Amino acid sequence: MSTHPELDCAYQRSLAYLNQVARRRVGAAATRQALLDSLGGPLPVGADDPARVIERLAERADPGLVATVGPRYFGFVTGGAVPVTVAAEWLAASWDQNGAMYAMSPVTAVLEDIVAGWVTELLGLPRTCSLGFVTGCHMANFTCLAAARHEVLRRTGWHVEADGLQRAPRVTVLVGSEAHVSAVGALRLLGFGANELVRVQADSQGRMRVDALDGALDRCDGPLIVCAQVGNVNTGASDPVGDIVSRAHARGAWAHIDGAFGLWAAAVPELAPLVAGVENADSWATDAHKWLNVPYDSGLAIVANPAPHRAAMGMPASYLERGADEERVGMDWVPESSRRARVIALYTLVRTLGRDGILDLIRRNCRLARRMATRLSPQAGVTILNEVVLNQVLVAFDAPDGDHDAMTRAVIARVQQDGTCWAGGAIWQGRQVMRISVSNWSTTEDDIDRSADAILQCYAAG
Ligand SMILES: *Cc1c(COP(=O)(O)O)cnc(C)c1O
Repeated sequence: MSTHPELDCAYQRSLAYLNQVARRRVGAAATRQALLDSLGGPLPVGADDPARVIERLAERADPGLVATVGPRYFGFVTGGAVPVTVAAEWLAASWDQNGAMYAMSPVTAVLEDIVAGWVTELLGLPRTCSLGFVTGCHMANFTCLAAARHEVLRRTGWHVEADGLQRAPRVTVLVGSEAHVSAVGALRLLGFGANELVRVQADSQGRMRVDALDGALDRCDGPLIVCAQVGNVNTGASDPVGDIVSRAHARGAWAHIDGAFGLWAAAVPELAPLVAGVENADSWATDAHKWLNVPYDSGLAIVANPAPHRAAMGMPASYLERGADEERVGMDWVPESSRRARVIALYTLVRTLGRDGILDLIRRNCRLARRMATRLSPQAGVTILNEVVLNQVLVAFDAPDGDHDAMTRAVIARVQQDGTCWAGGAIWQGRQVMRISVSNWSTTEDDIDRSADAILQCYAAG
C-alpha cells in the first residue's frame, strides 16, 4: 500500500492525460453550467478521502480542459509544457520551496542565479543583468517599468519609492500604437494613465514607425521612458528596436522591451536580425511559459543595471535574512515576497534541451507557421494578412455576400466546435481575423496539415 494514494492517483491521471492529449478534442467539451454542477455543490463540511478527491477532480475536470499542451492548440500565444518540465513541477511541488530569499531555500536562490546566467547568454544580453522570476510577461513589464520609473526620476533628483509620483516631475512614456495591453496595464499600475501615454504610430505589420517616433521625441521633454515591442501578438512583427533604443538613449530615456515571445528571436542567428540592437535596451520583459514551453506560470524581468531594479522592488524588513552579498534575495527583483520556486522547471528545460534544442524548437515553430500559411493561402477566398516572419499567422475568409468579417467569425466558431484544432479571433487593423500561433514543442507537419484541412473544411461548410 502506498503511503500517499492521492499522489499515486495524480501520477496515473497525469500520465493518462499526457499520453492521449495529442488525440483528444482540443477545445473544452463541457458547458460552464455542467462544470459548476459536477464540481460545485455546498461548502464541504466534513473530511473526504484525499485519493477520492483527486480521482473525482481528474474525472470531473476533464471535459472542461483545453488541450493547450497538445500539438494543435493555436490560440493566443500559448506554449505547451515539455514533459521534463512537468516532472520538475511535480518535484518542485513536493519540495514546496519559497523563493523569497537564500535563507529560505538555498537551492532555489542558486538555481535562479544559474538560470539567470544561462538566459542572458542565450538571449545575448549583458551578463551584468539582474533577473526577476515573475509570474509572466505582464508582471515582468511591471517590474522592468518600475525600475525605469525609478531611474528616470532619480536622474532628476526625485526618489519615487520614498516620495511617490503625485508631486514628482512629469514622466513622459512613449509606446507604439500596437503595444500589447500588458504594457499599458503595467504602466497603469505604476501611476501612468492609459490616456497619458504618447502613442507612436505603427505600420501595416504593427511595427512602431521610426519617423513617427522622431516626431514624438521632438515634442516631449523631461524624464522619458520608451517602450518598444518585439513580437506583436497578432503579426509576430518586431519594432525596429535598434533604431528605437539608440534614439531613446540619445534623449537620455530608458528603453524598455516587451518581448513576451518575440525576444527569443534574439537567440536564433537567422531570426536575430528581426530584433537587431535589442541587447542595447535597459530592460526586457519576456515569458518562459509561452515559447519556451514550461508550465504556467513563468516570466522573466531582466534589467541591464541591477541598481534601479533592486531600488524599485527591494523592501527593507527587520526579519530579512540578507546573509552574504552573494546569497541571492529573490524578493529584491520581483513584486512579491513569498513565491514558489518556478525557476525549477525552466532549469530542467535548459538542462534537457540545451541551446541547440531551444533553437530547434523556435525554428520548427516558425517553419510550421509558414507551412500553415502555405497550406491555407492557395484556397480561393482565403487571405493571409501578415508577413509570416515568426510563429504567427493571420487569416481572413471572404464571404460571397461581402460580409467577410461575419464569415471569418463563423469559420472560427466552426473550427472551435470541430475540435481538430483550436484558433481564436482578433480584430486586426479593422478586420476580423483568425489568429494562429504555432508555439508548441510537440506540433508536427502532420498536425499542421490536418489542422489546415479542418480549417478549410470549416470554410467550405460556410
Ligand atoms: C502575452 C504577452 C504579454 C503578457 O504576458 P503574460 O505571460 O500573459 O503575463 C505581454 N506582452 C506581449 C507582447 C505578449 O505577447
